[in-house]
Amino acid sequence: MSIITITSCPVCGSSDIEKVFDSVDHFSSREVFPICDCRECGFRFTNNFPSEDVIGKYYDSPAYISHSDSDKGLTNRMYHLFRRLMLRRKVNLVKRHLKRDNAHLLDIGCGTGYFLNAAKEKGFTVSGIEKDEKAREKAITRFKLDVKEETGFFATDQTSFDVVTLWHVLEHLEKLNESIEKMVDILTPDGTMVIALPNHRSFDAKWYKEKWAAYDTPRHLWHLTPDTLERLLAKHNLSVVKKYRMPLDAYYVALLSEQYLGSTVLIKYLRAFLIGTTGFLLSLFNLKQSSSVIYIVKKSIKLEKPYSLTSKRVTYK
Ligand SMILES: [Zn+2]
Repeated sequence: MSIITITSCPVCGSSDIEKVFDSVDHFSSREVFPICDCRECGFRFTNNFPSEDVIGKYYDSPAYISHSDSDKGLTNRMYHLFRRLMLRRKVNLVKRHLKRDNAHLLDIGCGTGYFLNAAKEKGFTVSGIEKDEKAREKAITRFKLDVKEETGFFATDQTSFDVVTLWHVLEHLEKLNESIEKMVDILTPDGTMVIALPNHRSFDAKWYKEKWAAYDTPRHLWHLTPDTLERLLAKHNLSVVKKYRMPLDAYYVALLSEQYLGSTVLIKYLRAFLIGTTGFLLSLFNLKQSSSVIYIVKKSIKLEKPYSLTSKRVTYK
């Protein structure tokens, strides 16, 4: 198996890296992966993770809810209820940041296509990228969607999309900088990127520490915060123009974290409710405390010619 070891920070390039704790893959393999911080810019990431060609087996579990339509168990049923609520909110949120109707939208990591289908119903022209073959086939057969495998993403033409969405996907992409560079390439000049990510500066993350379910190693490689994401995007001439909180995620992540802690059923639901609610209330005062954050991202405006105080066109008499 090939293991990827990060020796210099993918955000700032520094080699001043320290391990902060070990994270167990509670979901699938029980293997342990180090979580590291860059001491220069604060970027957090999973280290020594399996490379793209072999990581598939770590997703290969019937419990992997993102690709599962199972509604067995209360956690799954709650997930599906939350998904329906979130789908409507996500499509409305994307529409709010667009200047024109019938926009072309690309959803990267579209899974079984629920979001793309909801966007299509609201008038978007939609396409998707999904590397998991089973999920891709479901999206194509169930919703008649245009969904390509990952190689299709890197073959996409320049400026062909008004919107690129990544709902909890960027943290999975091994080629972090190359992928963002390609997204910049395929976006129209006034295009919009919508990126949803877990946030390890949130109340629930601080509460559960290394047992916080959204570390989700080794599937989650990059653990971004509002600050480190802005730093990463600035490298690619992108800016965050707006952030939104995702309050329901705190409850779901808290439930999973309680499961990993081995809590009894009563404690699990009671504490997940309390942690989720506390996190939500705190995030109302400070969005950087939100368990997950949705970022609206635009290309930064480049000045054609830098402003100069010695410009000959400005003369004073
Ligand atoms: Zn760094």
